[in-house]
Amino acid sequence: MRSRKTVSNPRRRKGEIDALVLEFLAQANAPLSAYDISARAALVGISIVPNQVYRTVARLINEGRVRRIETLQAYALCQPDARACLVCLGCHSVVTVAAWPVETELEREAAMTGFELRRGTVEARGLCPDCRQSDAAPLRF
Ligand SMILES: [Zn+2]
Repeated sequence: MRSRKTVSNPRRRKGEIDALVLEFLAQANAPLSAYDISARAALVGISIVPNQVYRTVARLINEGRVRRIETLQAYALCQPDARACLVCLGCHSVVTVAAWPVETELEREAAMTGFELRRGTVEARGLCPDCRQSDAAPLRF
């Protein structure tokens, strides 16, 4: 069992909060919202308000360590070779894939318009194998 940390230092260092957010995302089975992260911190006795979480994940996204899953309005660890995300509409799990032909087509189409792609994630929504097998899989969208 994890020891409870005190909240005697409300101005935690960025590095501490970064490490905590990365740990929560690594432990999670699905992407976490800022409120999920804040709630998990509270469970271990640490106060991190959602605004701190937003600032932290923005920094971690810029560093290429965290990815925002737009479909879920949540965050996940960034896989270095991930080029696209498959988001399950049943359980909200996310699988990343390294190659995605759509991206190549998108780059080609963008180049034809003179647009240079710099950053972006392709997200596709569907059902994971577990949810496909379950007729009762609720769709949360
Ligand atoms: Zn699923």
